[in-house]
Amino acid sequence: RIATEGGNDGFYMLRPLYDKNGMADDFMVADCNERGAAFSGIPTAQFIGSKLSALYPKPYFYVVRDTLRAAMESGFYEDEFKIPPESPLRVEWVYRRLVRSGAALALTMRDISATKAHERDLRRMANEDALTALPNRNWMMSLLPEEIERARNADAMMALLFVDLDDFKHINDSLGHSVGDELLRAAALRLKSALRPTDHVVRLGGDEFTVILSALESQDAAAHVAERIAEKLNWPFDLARGKNTLGASIGISIFPRDGQDAETLLKHSDIAMYHAKSEGKGHYRFYEQSLSESLNARIDNERALQQAIEQDQFVLFYQPRVNTFTGELQTMEALVRWKHPQRGLVPPLEFIPLAEETGLILKLGELVVEQACAQIAHWKALGIPLVPISVNVSPRQFYHGNIAHLFASSIARHHIDADMVEIEITESSMMGKEEGVAAELAAIRNLGIKLLVDDFGTGYSSLSQLQRLDMDVLKVDRAFTAELGATAEGEVFFRAIVSMAHALGMIVVAEGVESSEQMRVLQSLSCDEIQGYFISRPVPTHEAQALMVQRFLMPLQPIKSVPCS
Ligand code: C2E
Ligand code: CA
Ligand code: CA
Repeated sequence: RIATEGGNDGFYMLRPLYDKNGMADDFMVADCNERGAAFSGIPTAQFIGSKLSALYPKPYFYVVRDTLRAAMESGFYEDEFKIPPESPLRVEWVYRRLVRSGAALALTMRDISATKAHERDLRRMANEDALTALPNRNWMMSLLPEEIERARNADAMMALLFVDLDDFKHINDSLGHSVGDELLRAAALRLKSALRPTDHVVRLGGDEFTVILSALESQDAAAHVAERIAEKLNWPFDLARGKNTLGASIGISIFPRDGQDAETLLKHSDIAMYHAKSEGKGHYRFYEQSLSESLNARIDNERALQQAIEQDQFVLFYQPRVNTFTGELQTMEALVRWKHPQRGLVPPLEFIPLAEETGLILKLGELVVEQACAQIAHWKALGIPLVPISVNVSPRQFYHGNIAHLFASSIARHHIDADMVEIEITESSMMGKEEGVAAELAAIRNLGIKLLVDDFGTGYSSLSQLQRLDMDVLKVDRAFTAELGATAEGEVFFRAIVSMAHALGMIVVAEGVESSEQMRVLQSLSCDEIQGYFISRPVPTHEAQALMVQRFLMPLQPIKSVPCS
């Protein structure tokens, strides 16, 4: 005992008390150190000599006695033991070590409560999302297999809902991370409030959550929950910096129909969510096999496009734009084509939208600008009479591509004049944050590059807005040209555009002119320039070069046939 005093371990000698059948039916504390007595909260002198049956309440005493009996028999026992509330010991967790020593048992007890608490914290941190205090992905991936097993055994359904907040990134970027955090916490609460206490909500990370619905009665029940969640997340959030509206897109996968394991169910709910979001925000959608297929096709396309960009499989075709009255060549519009090793020439509408969505348009746009500038330099070197090349710039490029810089450096690299380049921007690109747009447009114009409004009439811009932005040329969308000669309103509308544009000092171009009648109407409306199959389709470089040399491109008017003898 003296040897054990001063240590951190509680030390006890326990002597078995036998009944008349020779069974140890009680134990007496024969000795203990200070620390050992302190664990019990009883003074040492009083503790020594006590029977355990007197120290412990009844059912619990039997549990302790069984352990001690077993140790007596085998000679050795050790474990980590959580002290139950019925025990008089004033510690939470102990390490126990029992060694038989002659006719008695030596018990050593160490308080490991702090270590256990630490372990628990670590476990909680590993399983809990610090921001919202919801369980995290780690937790879910350990719980889900159990829930799936339970559902399988009970022949029951369960649902996994993948919930993705709709405009979170925008709010986070514009209002700052503390508002973003506040919003996520509020959204987590809303999610929980939309569910039964037995359902689980998990924060996967970012603005992604999952909901696990166990013991699902029907697919409809999952749809109802999804509706309720979407509705709750649709109410405005009252945050420290004002009200904000979010909304959520939800994908649902059902066990056993959509997957047999946690990974598959999660992946499929994610795919369903992705489709819900692309169909318009604030919706939910069930997983279907076809969604995976279309996603895989998309991933393949994206990979192929990425590769095509790395290997620069793109060529520019050129379509002339001419004076409506004389047919004199004004500019060449560069229109990109993908020279696909198997598919041949792929038109832009089959890859530009994907490039836009994925951001690949930025790299692709650089290739186009580079090729257009190189082409001008090449024609210049050949002594071809030059006209400007106009280059299309899509909305994402305009917002993220640092267009002014991109063009300026390419122009400088190829030693060409800036007025040999024009830029076509759709009207929808110019809507939105007007100051930023105006600044970017001004930077482009300061380089000496002309700006064209492409596809005019398809967006919601007003002419005065465009004039404020100092646009030089208005290209009226080919849908309006198609109306010319077809309906009376078509002509009225076109006439209005031309006269207003002229009043504002803009040049008007009609796109998609396909016939001599359309051209004649456009002449009568004083539309300045035309472009379309009637003059020329987009053509490859060498043909474009021939058109530049020819310069006047008005097709010969069909001569009225004179009957000849
Ligand atoms: P866009 O800028 O409106 O180009 C005009 C489109 O109309 C071209 O299609 C052209 O071939 C077609 N077109 C021209 N005249 C006629 C006509 O008389 N009748 C008919 N039916 N169509 C005519 P394309 O070359 O397939 O290009 C489609 C769109 O792809 C372009 O529309 C443009 O928005 C985009 N695009 C093309 N090249 C590029 C590029 O280098 N960068 C970006 N960002 N977009 C591009
Ligand atoms: Ca264009
Ligand atoms: Ca156009």
